[in-house]
Amino acid sequence: MIDQMRGLEDLKCLAGARQAGLAVAFDLQQRREQAAAGVPAGEQGAGVAAQIALARRESPAKGSRLLGLAKALTGMPRTFAAFRAGVLNEWRATLIVKDTICLSVEDRAAVDEDLAADTGALDGLGDKAVIAAVRAAAYRRDPAAVAKRAARAVGERCVSLRPAPDTMAYLTALLPVAQGVAAYAALTRDADAARSAGNERSRGQVMADTLVERVTGTPGGINGVEIQLVMTDRTLLQADAEPARLPGYGTIPAAVARDIALTGAADNDLSLWVRRLYTAPATGELVAMDSKARLFPAGLKRFLQVRDDTCRTPYCDAPIRHHDHITAWHTGGPTSAANGQGLCEACNHIKETPGWTSQPATGPRHTTATTTPTGHTYHSTAPPLPGARPSRRRPVRTVPPACLPCSGGPAG
Ligand SMILES: [Zn+2]
Repeated sequence: MIDQMRGLEDLKCLAGARQAGLAVAFDLQQRREQAAAGVPAGEQGAGVAAQIALARRESPAKGSRLLGLAKALTGMPRTFAAFRAGVLNEWRATLIVKDTICLSVEDRAAVDEDLAADTGALDGLGDKAVIAAVRAAAYRRDPAAVAKRAARAVGERCVSLRPAPDTMAYLTALLPVAQGVAAYAALTRDADAARSAGNERSRGQVMADTLVERVTGTPGGINGVEIQLVMTDRTLLQADAEPARLPGYGTIPAAVARDIALTGAADNDLSLWVRRLYTAPATGELVAMDSKARLFPAGLKRFLQVRDDTCRTPYCDAPIRHHDHITAWHTGGPTSAANGQGLCEACNHIKETPGWTSQPATGPRHTTATTTPTGHTYHSTAPPLPGARPSRRRPVRTVPPACLPCSGGPAG
């Protein structure tokens, strides 16, 4: 069994290396075709990573990282050989590429030569040891490029939110080191002061509460900031167990949703707005809306936001930034819920590249079919809304098929 596991591990590496080779060849072929079709040089290569992502069942962002890895590996033959032979897996090959990407082609090749991964020089090294070996080689080769990369990294500062277990969330900031340390020091200083003044919350709790208070400008955090909670009327009013959805976060338990909507509103003096959305009881499909205007009207945008939740491209979890006409408006596509979809910025851009087509398709809920330049078709179905799946233990209730999103904003 152990021998089989090792054999399969080698096979995974071989398959990964083969996929990398194919990605580079596919990129070249697509660029040639685009050049022949008159696409300007600066725009050639658009949509290639997205096609690789769909084929590999990954997000477009991951597809673009995989293509970058594959291209970089062609300039690092010894690392590529180690990957092919199973000495390095895809993740460790990625670590090597990540820390050499700022170097010139020549310097990267020299680092590749220094590391000589195909001789087994990195054998037995863990992730951190591999990174240390690569960085040492890269710093020696071109200290200026490393400094320039640090300066460029400042431009990538950002804040992100991702779910944590037990209905918690990680709010993460990627900051220049001085600002990161300063923000953390300010929070610890205030927490220590509060604790020595007799506050009974733990240091971590005070820091977390202070962070929310400072950022939202209100104690308790969510007054004045609109959060939209989508739940069934049974969950809100009849203590039903059907989970709710908090856009920007994901699924939350019914009791937590009620707590935010009702108790939270009473305790923190929040204004609570309720808006009714009607869904088909069996499928959770939202009822359609229509409009003649080209720009998506606010109500329809909100509708798409609730129906689609995140970007509709398969495997892409990015937040919705664009409300897109599936069949383009200038080719006669109507401004309607059926012909609308929520997309992230990158996916909306890719959809407009030559050779890509989309149209509404049949499915259990709102479904689109996207065809890529190679003629492959991928389907995307809107996620079911809360209340879509009737419980197996009880018959479906005959209450009206409505679900009630509540938000703290005045637009309701
Ligand atoms: Zn997307």
